[in-house]
Amino acid sequence: MDTRQTAPQPLFLADNLALDFINTEYGTGDAKQDCLEDDRSVIDWLITAGVAEAGTPAPPGLHAQARQLRSAASAVVHAAMNAVAVDLGVINRILEKGHPLTRLQWDEDGQHYRVDTHSVSTRPESLLWPVADALVKLVTGNKFEFVRQCEAHDCVLLFHDLSKSHRRRWCSMATCGNRMKVAAFRNRTRS
Ligand SMILES: [Zn+2]
Repeated sequence: MDTRQTAPQPLFLADNLALDFINTEYGTGDAKQDCLEDDRSVIDWLITAGVAEAGTPAPPGLHAQARQLRSAASAVVHAAMNAVAVDLGVINRILEKGHPLTRLQWDEDGQHYRVDTHSVSTRPESLLWPVADALVKLVTGNKFEFVRQCEAHDCVLLFHDLSKSHRRRWCSMATCGNRMKVAAFRNRTRS
């Protein structure tokens, strides 16, 4: 059986849409994985993340723009962590071209007003706009200081530590957390 036919499973562990999007590329060296292989896998990711409706067709060019956005988003997050400037062209283009329409509506069932947001088009920029918007909110928000990279030396995954104590160290306790604890234990018993 050729397992390479199957795209790597996307991880949703960051507690933030933009960081989950950046995390679609993970692992280092030979173990590097990329969940965004083509237009189809990008639309599948957006649907799984809950920002595109099931059945949305993938427009041509979606994959190329998604990868541009991912590297720009990753650069911005790392730059913001170090309080330095970085090129914002890709992000700002998606923010401008993909901006959805908003409408105030009366919700008869809930008996309250709500804002209805819908995409202007099915262009790549419109589909990727929610990710760019989440990124803007993250880097300009007052909780940005709790964005962290997993402490495992061979893990590049980012997450937003919204726990009360802000002591989350690992992308996942089940994977890196355990791995690093076992390694630390081995080091202790060896010396
Ligand atoms: Zn990790």
